[in-house]
Amino acid sequence: MKTAIWWIRRDLRLKDNHALCEALAAADMVLPVFVLDPFLLAKAAEKRRAFLFDGLHRLDRALRERGSYLVLRQGSPLEELSRLVAESGATAIYAEEDISPYARRRDSLVASVLPLHFVHGVTAHHPAAVRKPDGEPYTVFTPFSRMWKVLPLPVVAQQVVQRIVSPEGISSLPLPEVQPLAEFPAGEAEAARRLEQFLDGAVYAYASARDRLDLDGTSALSPYFRFGMVSARSAVTAVLRAKEYAPDGVAKKGCETWLNELIWREFYYMILYAYPQVLNTAFKSDMRAIPWRNSPEELDAWKAGKTGYPLVDAAMRQLASIGWMHNRARMVVASFLSKDLLINWQEGERWFMRQLVDGDPASNNGGWQWSAGVGTDAAPYFRIFNPILQGKKFDPQGIYIRRWLPELAFVPEEYLHEPWRMPLSVQHASGCVMGKEYPYPIVDRSLVRERTLAAYRAGKDL
Ligand SMILES: Cc1cc2nc3c(=O)[nH]c(=O)nc-3n(C[C@H](O)[C@H](O)[C@H](O)COP(=O)(O)OP(=O)(O)OC[C@H]3O[C@@H](n4cnc5c(N)ncnc54)[C@H](O)[C@@H]3O)c2cc1C
Repeated sequence: MKTAIWWIRRDLRLKDNHALCEALAAADMVLPVFVLDPFLLAKAAEKRRAFLFDGLHRLDRALRERGSYLVLRQGSPLEELSRLVAESGATAIYAEEDISPYARRRDSLVASVLPLHFVHGVTAHHPAAVRKPDGEPYTVFTPFSRMWKVLPLPVVAQQVVQRIVSPEGISSLPLPEVQPLAEFPAGEAEAARRLEQFLDGAVYAYASARDRLDLDGTSALSPYFRFGMVSARSAVTAVLRAKEYAPDGVAKKGCETWLNELIWREFYYMILYAYPQVLNTAFKSDMRAIPWRNSPEELDAWKAGKTGYPLVDAAMRQLASIGWMHNRARMVVASFLSKDLLINWQEGERWFMRQLVDGDPASNNGGWQWSAGVGTDAAPYFRIFNPILQGKKFDPQGIYIRRWLPELAFVPEEYLHEPWRMPLSVQHASGCVMGKEYPYPIVDRSLVRERTLAAYRAGKDL
C-alpha cells in the first residue's frame, strides 16, 4: 500500500484541487496534513487566524464525511513533515505551490530533504507562464492581461472526491477552538455559495456598482481566495460562463470587469514572483528615497479612524471591526496615509496585514505600492485622492459613513463629508460637537498637494 501526504497550505478545498488529485492518483492512502507554522502565525491578523481555524474545522468535517481526517501539527514544517513521513510511511508529499518569498524558501528547504511534489493552483495561470514574447516578466497590467487572456484556459479538475482512505492512528493536535467570523464564515461550501450568488446577479451590475461604498456590489470573496477555499481557476471558468448568459452589453461588461479584477490578483502574484524585493522596497527605484514625515500621532489617528475625514475614518473603523474593507476605501485610505500624511506606505502595508482577513502579501503589497504611486503600473504620484469628493461620489447619501461612524449618524447630509463646516447649532442638534464627539481634520488638505509633490520630487532627485 502506497501512502502520500497532502500538505495543505493555501488550498483548503476538496474541489478543483490538483495537489489532492495527484496525491490520490499516486497512492492508495492519502494523509491530509496542516502544519501551523509559528513564524506565519505570529504575523497573522487575529481575524485572519480565526478564519483559518474555522476553515480547518470545516475541512476536517468534509474529510471525515469521506472517511478521512485532518492531521494538525505545529512547528517547523520540515521537522513536522519528517516526523509524519516516518510515522505514516509516506513515500511522497503533494502540495499546491505557493509563491511568496518566505513560502518559496521554506518549500525549497523541505524539497531538499523530503520527496515533495509541487502542483500549481494558487492562481489560474502560473506566474511564470504569462511572459512577454522575449520571456521577460510584464510590469504593466494591460499587456499582461492581454497575454493572460490569450493563453489556453486552465482546466478545472472534474474529479469529485468522494472517499479518501487515510492511514489510521496518526496523532493530531486538537483543532483550535474558534468563533466563526459573523461576516466571513469560512469554508468551501460558503465560498461556493457566495460565488454562485454573485454570478447569478450582482456580477451583471459590477462594472458600475463595484465602486459604490454604500452597496454590496462586490463578491466579498477575497478571504476565500486567500485560503484557496475556492480556486482562481473555478472562478475564472464560472465568470466566463456567466458572461455567455449575460442578457445585454452592460451585464457582459460586468463579467469582463470582474474577470479583470481576478487578473489584477494574478498580476500582483506574478510581480511578487518575479520581483520578490517588492516586499522590502518600492518597485520604482526612483521612489525609494521619499522624505516621509512619519508622524507617530498621525499614524495612530489613521489606525484608529480618527483623522477627522469621515470617509477615511469610516473605512478604518470597518477594517478594525470586521477585518475587511471595500476596495475603493482601501485606495482612499492608502492614498491618504502616504500622500496626505506623508507616512511611509510600508507602515500602512504592515497595518493592513495585521488587520485583514484577506491579508495577502502579493495583493496587499501591490495595492499599497499602486496607491502610493511607487509601484509597477501605479497611480501617478501626483494623483492624490480627495476623500471628500470620493465620499460624495461613491457614498452619496453617506450610508457607509453613518454605518461605521455612529457619532455622525444624525449629521445632516450636506455636512456629512465635511462635518467641520457645521454651524455650532447644527453640531449640538445632531449630537456631534466637533473636537468632542468627532475630531477636527488632522491635516489641512489645501496644503497637502504642494507638500506631497515636493516630497516625491525631492525623493526622485536624491
Ligand atoms: C491598499 C490595498 C491593499 C489591498 N490588500 C489586499 C489584500 O491584502 N488581499 C486581497 O485579496 N486584496 C487586497 N486588495 C485588493 C482589493 O481591495 C480586494 O481584493 C477587494 O477589495 C476584495 O473584495 P471582493 O472580494 O469583494 O472583490 P471583488 O471586487 O469581488 O473582486 C474579486 C476578487 O478579485 C481580486 N481582486 C479584486 N481587486 C483586486 C486588486 N485591486 N488587486 C488584487 N486582487 C484584486 C480579489 O481576490 C477579489 O476577491 C488591496 C487593495 C488596496 C488598494
